[in-house]
Amino acid sequence: MRATTVNVWMSEAAEAIRRERDHLTQLDAAIGDGDHGVNMDRGFDAVGKALAGQDGSVPPGRLLVLAGKTLVSTVGGASGPLWGTALRHAGRALGDREELDGPGLVDALDAAVAGVAELGAATTGDKTMVDALAPAVDALRGAVARDLPLGEAVRAAASAAEEGARATVPMQARKGRASYLGERSIGHQDPGATSTALILRALEQAVEQDT
Ligand code: ADP
Ligand code: MG
Repeated sequence: MRATTVNVWMSEAAEAIRRERDHLTQLDAAIGDGDHGVNMDRGFDAVGKALAGQDGSVPPGRLLVLAGKTLVSTVGGASGPLWGTALRHAGRALGDREELDGPGLVDALDAAVAGVAELGAATTGDKTMVDALAPAVDALRGAVARDLPLGEAVRAAASAAEEGARATVPMQARKGRASYLGERSIGHQDPGATSTALILRALEQAVEQDT
C-alpha cells in the first residue's frame, strides 16, 4: 500500500457513500435523526478535495491523518469525529512508512479501532460502527497471520465488516442517538456499521488496484 492506494481508497469510499447516501440516511431515519448519508457524503467529498491538493511524495500515513482531520472538521454528526479519529490514529500508527504491507495495515486498523473505542466508549454488541470495524480488523489480523496475499486479507476484512453490519439488526443500541430508542432500536441495521462496511470494501478495491 502506498500513497496512491490511500487516494484510491478514499475516492472509492466517497463513491460508494455517494451511491448509498439515501440508503444510509433511511437507516439513520429509522433509529437516529436521518442525517448519516448526508454527513458521510459531505465528509468524504471534502476528503477527496483535501487529498487532491497533496503531491505524490506524501507518505500514506500522513494522507490518512489529513483525511481524518478533514472528516472531523466537516462532519457535524457523531460519525465525523469517530471516523476522523479512526483515520488519524491509523495514519499516526503508520508514521512516515512509505510502503504498507499486511502487518502495517493491521497496526493501522488496530489503532483505528482503539481510537474509536476511546472516543466513543463503544464495544462490540453496542450496535455501532465498532460492530463492523472490530471484526474487520480481527479478520485482517487472522488472514495476515496466515500469510494470505494482502488482497485476500483485505477481502476477508471487508466481508467481516459486512457480516458485522448485518449482525447489528437484532441488537439493541447502547451508544449514540439510537440508544435513546431503547428496545425500539432492535430490528434495524446500524447506519454507521453499514457505512463502515462500505469503507472497508473500498479499501479492498484500492488494494486490488494497487497490486
Ligand atoms: P449522529 O448520530 O450525530 O446523527 P451520524 O448519524 O452521522 O451522527 O452517525 C450515527 C452513527 O454513529 C451510528 O449509526 C453509530 O454507528 C455511530 N456511533 C454513534 N455513537 C457512537 C459511539 N459512541 N461509538 C461508536 N460509534 C458511534
Ligand atoms: Mg444521524
